[in-house]
This record gives sequence, structure tokens and C-alpha cells, in this order.
Amino acid sequence: MPDDRLSSPPNADESISQEFVKLISGAQQFLMQEQDLFGNIIYPSSEHPAGKKESTGAVQTPYPAEAWANTGALPDLNTSICECQKCSLGSTRIKFVFGVGNPNAEVVLIGEAPGADEDAQGEPFVGRAGQLLNKILEAIHFKREEVYICNILKCRPPGNRDPLPEEVEQCEPYLWKQLEIIKPKIILCLGRISAQVLLKTTDTLTKLRENVHDYRGIPLIVTYHPAALLRNPNWKRPAWEDVQKLRKMYDEMNAMKK
Ligand code: URA
Repeated sequence: MPDDRLSSPPNADESISQEFVKLISGAQQFLMQEQDLFGNIIYPSSEHPAGKKESTGAVQTPYPAEAWANTGALPDLNTSICECQKCSLGSTRIKFVFGVGNPNAEVVLIGEAPGADEDAQGEPFVGRAGQLLNKILEAIHFKREEVYICNILKCRPPGNRDPLPEEVEQCEPYLWKQLEIIKPKIILCLGRISAQVLLKTTDTLTKLRENVHDYRGIPLIVTYHPAALLRNPNWKRPAWEDVQKLRKMYDEMNAMKK
């Protein structure tokens, strides 16, 4: 006759360890969602940036005195910066990810930094997050080729870590130049980091989504990063509202031109 007492302890152990794995992966998921909204810093409640005053917008900073700063077309700019070694990402990247799309785009989408797929292909948003971004664009009747897509950083941070301040400092002027050449009518920031960098603020994504911001005279809308939407599908509805707001603003601007 089988002795139940012998088989029950391993089963109990197994179910405890399964519960533990579930708990840890739940906690990990929760922390990643908090990071999407608030970043890496854990703030004492009184200092939480969500409680701070609204951002005042970006400050105009001059370009470094370098040859690329005098270029007037995107392909020339790309050619003159694509071998950049100003930060350590120059030595770890596979490909420099300049940006893609319509050089006369009225809408520019700005993400954070290339991931592994983008690093391999040299084009922004081509992985899973990029496929979702294409669907989001389609849903508001934009073709990927109609807009311009780029990132704050042009090279992949190892392991997809957040961009470091010194990397942003070196790379951001390239983006300023891209925007100066394209002259978009609307900017859409994909995720907290891109908005925080452009607007020079530590405000949370929740706070940043509340307003249309002014970036050097260009209206700037903030929404969730598509990778965050893949992690938390509950954010798809508010993201849908953000992109509908963008579409409405775009249509109104174009109606005024007629
Ligand atoms: N995430 C980004 O922020 N940019 C990309 O190009 C790809 C993923």
C-alpha cells in the first residue's frame, strides 16, 4: 500500500516554490510598471516628482562647434555623425541608429534608445515594440513612412539599460539638429525617458501625459512606450486616447492651412 506521507512533503515543497516564483514574477512585473511611470529612483513621498510644479519646457542650447552642426539635410547629417565615438556606446554598438521616415514629416516620434533588433538592423522600432508602434500608427491612419521615427540615443545601451546622463549629453544635440532640419508640427514622445530628456524634467509619465507641452515652439505630446504597453495591456486604452489627441491636433492644424 503506498504511503501518502512519503509523497506529500515534496508536493507541498513544489507548490510553495511555485507560489514563490509567482510572487516574485508578480513583484518584478509591478516594479517594471512603476519604472515605466516613475523611473529608477524611489522617492520619499514628500519628494515625489509627481508632486512638483509643472515643467517649464526645454532650454535652447547651442550646438557644439563641430562640422555636422552645419549640415542641412538628414543624409548629410547621418554621414557626418554615424561613426560617433563620443561615448562608450560607440564601441559596443553594432549599428548606429540614426532615424527613419519622411524627411519632411509633420509628426516626429521619439523613443529612448535602440534595442537589440534596432542595433542589428540600424533602424529604430523594428522589434516587437516597433510592430506594436506600426499598429498604433495605422489605427490613427498614419503610415510609418509618413512620419519620422528616431530616438534620444543613436546607439544601444548594453542590456537595454536606461541612457546615462553623459550619453544623453553627447547624443541629444544630434536630435536637436534632426528636428531643426525636419521642422515637425507635432512631436510624440514614446515613454517617460524621451519626454524627461526633451523637457528637462523629472516629472512622472502620468504627470507628463496630462498636458500638451511646448518644445521649442513645437507642441509635444507624451504617451506610453510601446514596450511598456506590451508589458501592461491595461495601458493601451489611455495610450489610444493620447494618440487620438495627436491625430485630432494634426487634423486641426491641417484644416487651418486650407
Ligand atoms: N525602444 C526604443 O525606445 N527605441 C527603439 O528604437 C526600439 C525600442
